[in-house]
Amino acid sequence: MALFKPNWLLNRIYNLTPTELKRNHINAILTDLDNTLIAWHDPNYSAELKAWLEVMHDNHIKVIVVSNNKKKRVARAVSDLGIPFIWNALKPLPFGIKRALYRFDLNADQTIMVGDQLLTDIQAGHLAGVRTVMVRPIVETDSWNTKLNRFFETRIMNQYYQKNPQTTWREHLDD
Ligand SMILES: [Mg+2]
Repeated sequence: MALFKPNWLLNRIYNLTPTELKRNHINAILTDLDNTLIAWHDPNYSAELKAWLEVMHDNHIKVIVVSNNKKKRVARAVSDLGIPFIWNALKPLPFGIKRALYRFDLNADQTIMVGDQLLTDIQAGHLAGVRTVMVRPIVETDSWNTKLNRFFETRIMNQYYQKNPQTTWREHLDD
């Protein structure tokens, strides 16, 4: 069950600020792409993503995309932004995240995995030994292959809420 228990529940990834990240000893963000950074059906990056990345860059916080999607999709969305990305990450298996930790010389204790799916992003993060942030999906719809995961995810989340009634989605890590 701990595999499915995110360390934080956050409304949006764009709420993360350098100050709160540093306070929580985080200097690297591994992030899902679809419905975490941009809508799953949106081919291009948003102005908001670009602006947020600039803030992270200026504050020496690394951001790396770890996506299960195809190279073509991920590259089109983020390669112009100059951030590294791993495609075909095979989440919930931990290998994509471990590859990112190794390749970019990251300390697992100072890295978080951010994503909108419990069964892929959060589970993979915990299997790879990093802390996790679950965010609300950017849009309510999902691609066909995500819909099945959502069905199970809703059941797990409902159990989780029953056991932890005080749990709520937060605006910031330290709220
Ligand atoms: Mg996603």
